Amino acid sequence: MSESNLKSMNELVSLSKRRGFLFQSSEIYGGLASCWDYGPLGVELKNNVKNRWWKAMTFREDVEGIDASIFMHPTTWKASGHIDGFNDPMVDCKACKARYRADQIELTKPCVTCKAEGQFTEPRDFNLMFKTQMGAVEDPSAMVYLRPETAQGIFVNFLNVQSTMRKKLPFGIAQIGKAFRNEISPGNFIFRTREFEQMEMQFFVKPGEQKDWMEQWKELRLNWHLGNGLRKEKLRWHPHGENDLAHYADAATDIEYEFPIGWGEMEGIHSRTDFDLAQHQKFSGKKLEYVDQMDGNKKYIPYVIETSVGCDRAVLALLCDAYRLENEGDKDNERVVMKFHPSVAPIKAAVMPLMKKENLEEPARKLFAELQQHYKVEYDTSGSIGKRYRRQDEIGTPFCITVDYDTLEDHAVTIRDRDSMTQERVALDQVKKYIQDKFGF
Ligand code: ATP
Repeated sequence: MSESNLKSMNELVSLSKRRGFLFQSSEIYGGLASCWDYGPLGVELKNNVKNRWWKAMTFREDVEGIDASIFMHPTTWKASGHIDGFNDPMVDCKACKARYRADQIELTKPCVTCKAEGQFTEPRDFNLMFKTQMGAVEDPSAMVYLRPETAQGIFVNFLNVQSTMRKKLPFGIAQIGKAFRNEISPGNFIFRTREFEQMEMQFFVKPGEQKDWMEQWKELRLNWHLGNGLRKEKLRWHPHGENDLAHYADAATDIEYEFPIGWGEMEGIHSRTDFDLAQHQKFSGKKLEYVDQMDGNKKYIPYVIETSVGCDRAVLALLCDAYRLENEGDKDNERVVMKFHPSVAPIKAAVMPLMKKENLEEPARKLFAELQQHYKVEYDTSGSIGKRYRRQDEIGTPFCITVDYDTLEDHAVTIRDRDSMTQERVALDQVKKYIQDKFGF
């Protein structure tokens, strides 16, 4: 059997639309550039990713979760450096007005949109934060930003969490939430969008212990991606050299995935020193020190190891990784199959009565109701069994369970495995256990 991986993002965009993973935002109005809506299967996949992350990051003694507001006091962004420094150099094509990030194109080459030569404006800084007004009065003092990262909601709550949860160093704070960046060149499906979701954790440590913790978190984070089912050879480290470190960081490394557009950052693991807390202490006038009872009540501002992963990029990597085209060109045997790891698969099993006949529907419905108590399952009656298998393969359902006429006699069903396409006869009252044994959850 021949098998190939995803070759282009367009293939994935059309499968996502056809099968209900992702739709263009406001499609009936012609869409809104680089904005996407998660459909019924996309939201299941995304929720599975978020739940796995939340469990891995917060179901431990030393990390607490929060959910901070998107709007924050405007001084937050002065302190964090986003007002003065969150800029990308931007150039415009003088001929067609297309806008590019100066660091992403070759300014000596023709415009990729209109092919005109030597037509770019001088690079100028463009702040990536979205601004809006809060309240009824349109006044500069009522101006607020949509947060460009979730991290600052964690830093400003450092003391609240530390004191209410009686935390001792080292400990972390995690959150999942939307972030907004007015990106100059968004695109490549959900790789770079202006509204996206981040899953971030800041781990506060005693100064001097950051190196060890950085190593520990690097390993944990890579293992998390592997546990989602991503292939090892599609993941790599990208350590930042001295020259590409942010001014406040003393070490940083990215986890990259090999997308069909090439290697791209999926997660950043940063050693951010005491920069953020020190800045917030300075701008707010509130002490953000930790009193170390294990070290003679010494007071200091903790150092921070941050892990920051884009939820949508993690979803994109899973979609790209799962995609397989088998037996290409062989009309009878060609199939697209999404080989999701069971833990992220949007639908875990599909129950299919062979025919829409009452005597088959009754045991099928009963089995569906039982499985639904444990897993997200589909009840699928439309079209031939072959067509139903094809659809379930394309949405990555690990098991298809057929209720047929023999079921009425032997009280058993046929379970077809998505990847091997082998079929097994399993007693009706053993189906739940069969799935549980295969999944391990
Ligand atoms: P890039 O270099 O791709 O612009 P970044 O280094 O600015 O990313 P961070 O600020 O470190 O990214 O954000 C952490 C994570 O958030 C990234 O690894 C990525 O997964 C995700 N992310 C950042 N910007 C976007 C975006 N515009 N769309 C989708 N995800 C994003």
